[in-house]
Amino acid sequence: MDTVRTPEYPAVPAGRKPAWLRVAIPRGTRWRVMSDLLSKRGLHTVCDEAACPNKAECWGNGTATFMVLGDTCTRCCRFCAVATASKGAPIDDREPEELALAIRELDLRYAVITSVDRDDLPDRGAGHFARCVSAVRSLNPDTLVEVLIPDFRGDELDVLLASRPDVLAHNVETVRRLQGIRDARASFDHSLRTLREAGQKAGIPTKTSLILGLGETGDEVAAAMDELRENACNILVLGQYLQPTLSQIAVVEYVTPDRFERYAELARAKGFSSVVSGPLARTSYHAREGHEALASATGGSR
Ligand code: SF4
Repeated sequence: MDTVRTPEYPAVPAGRKPAWLRVAIPRGTRWRVMSDLLSKRGLHTVCDEAACPNKAECWGNGTATFMVLGDTCTRCCRFCAVATASKGAPIDDREPEELALAIRELDLRYAVITSVDRDDLPDRGAGHFARCVSAVRSLNPDTLVEVLIPDFRGDELDVLLASRPDVLAHNVETVRRLQGIRDARASFDHSLRTLREAGQKAGIPTKTSLILGLGETGDEVAAAMDELRENACNILVLGQYLQPTLSQIAVVEYVTPDRFERYAELARAKGFSSVVSGPLARTSYHAREGHEALASATGGSR
């Protein structure tokens, strides 16, 4: 039975964006400070590269999600606006230090670091990603660090985990049936394995996201939640897919705020300790609050 798609909570067919998806126009001095800082230090953000709709809010609040290993991804997921090529840019050896300095300058208490996929590198970028996390930790010992990683496994994951992130996120992106919208090298099972291995090896909370509005059913979302819980995933983010440009796949439907709330209730009932669910939710959206909810649910302090 479809547990969520009920007559009370119909989705809105794709077309004109509903009112709940309207976002603020960027303004204010913090926005300018963030923009200047990123350009001064030669850093990239997923906020920019993926055309995130929350940029005005997050940057206005002095937070961003830093994207290391360049601005070009070696994968080609059909929903993603990040630039893609078979080979990425040369590694910037100054990036770890510049990133650590930027986080200190912004006085961030919670930092989210992600990367493009680098299948062109022997370690797929795990070593450089880990150096970035270590540099941030050493210059900002009181800052919690969340990493949103590619599907690292085995040795790659060991290298990354040795840098001691506080939260490890990796996205399954969509339900099992629709995995074909991801790059052919990605899969639901690979992603589950990354989450499972990270939780087992490091004992840190793990987090994932599902983007909705791609034609998934309520039963499929519920089944994805079950598989994630079986693999000990603790934090779940559910957000609406928005087509970044005409080059990416189209939206199938707009999920209503009520339905996002129903999904959140379902996820909590299935045992997720922290759930961020709403039309504009993204993996890194309100990441600190998501971690605080987890800490308060589990009695953790850091
Ligand atoms: S939700 Fe994440 S990616 Fe989007 S603007 Fe905020 S910090 Fe950046």
